Amino acid sequence: MAFDQLERPQIALRLDAELRHAHPVTVLESAVETFGDKLALVSSFGAESAVLLHMVSRIKPNMPIMFLDTGMLFGQTLDYRRNLAARLGLTDVRDLRPLYTDLATVDPKANLWQTDTDACCNIRKVIPLDTALKEFDGWITGRKRFHGGDRLSLPVVEQADGQVKFNPLANWGKTELDAYMAEHDLPAHPLVAQGFPSIGCWPCTKPVEEGEDVRAGRWAGSEKTECGIHVARAPDAVTNVGGDI
Ligand code: SF4
Repeated sequence: MAFDQLERPQIALRLDAELRHAHPVTVLESAVETFGDKLALVSSFGAESAVLLHMVSRIKPNMPIMFLDTGMLFGQTLDYRRNLAARLGLTDVRDLRPLYTDLATVDPKANLWQTDTDACCNIRKVIPLDTALKEFDGWITGRKRFHGGDRLSLPVVEQADGQVKFNPLANWGKTELDAYMAEHDLPAHPLVAQGFPSIGCWPCTKPVEEGEDVRAGRWAGSEKTECGIHVARAPDAVTNVGGDI
């Protein structure tokens, strides 16, 4: 069922009131029931992604899964994405890549991350995802409150940029995630064992020390804590650098 932009904020408010203490599977079932084929999951195939991907595989294995292949990912992540999707029987994983024209114009030497991480994330993550999500009314994220920062007050259902966003794992901590992985015998991302509790692009991800925050290794040493895909923006705030969209 499709909803127009005026209806979606009301739907988000109602569902958040209904689902704020619900089990993640209940949240996913409600999301699918409400939005059907107009719903997508965004997954990094990172350290904790197998939990949500496994739940989705049992509810709607043909749900579109948006995977941001930035061109800067660890080889282990690309292998994990391929193997896990096959193992879970996910039939519609979409590899979202930056526009060639944006790369040629803004980052021809693939070193923009050294001087302007926001601009790099914009062409490699924000623009590809915003473009891909245009056909959907709602999307699902894997964010959790225990990751800290802006995520501490994360709602289970919210509306952002005219779409309804579901955060089914908002209430879960590491204990619940580890228990779910063990119960369903899910494979861990290979870099977890090397000290990476949160995994993004290789230039901007470091392992963390015992006791550090989960996301302490992301853009370590800078003020940046988020790539930008979850930041609300004005309609013209996402620049079309290369002119193809
Ligand atoms: Fe670029 Fe780093 Fe952002 Fe990846 S995380 S898109 S390498 S700035």
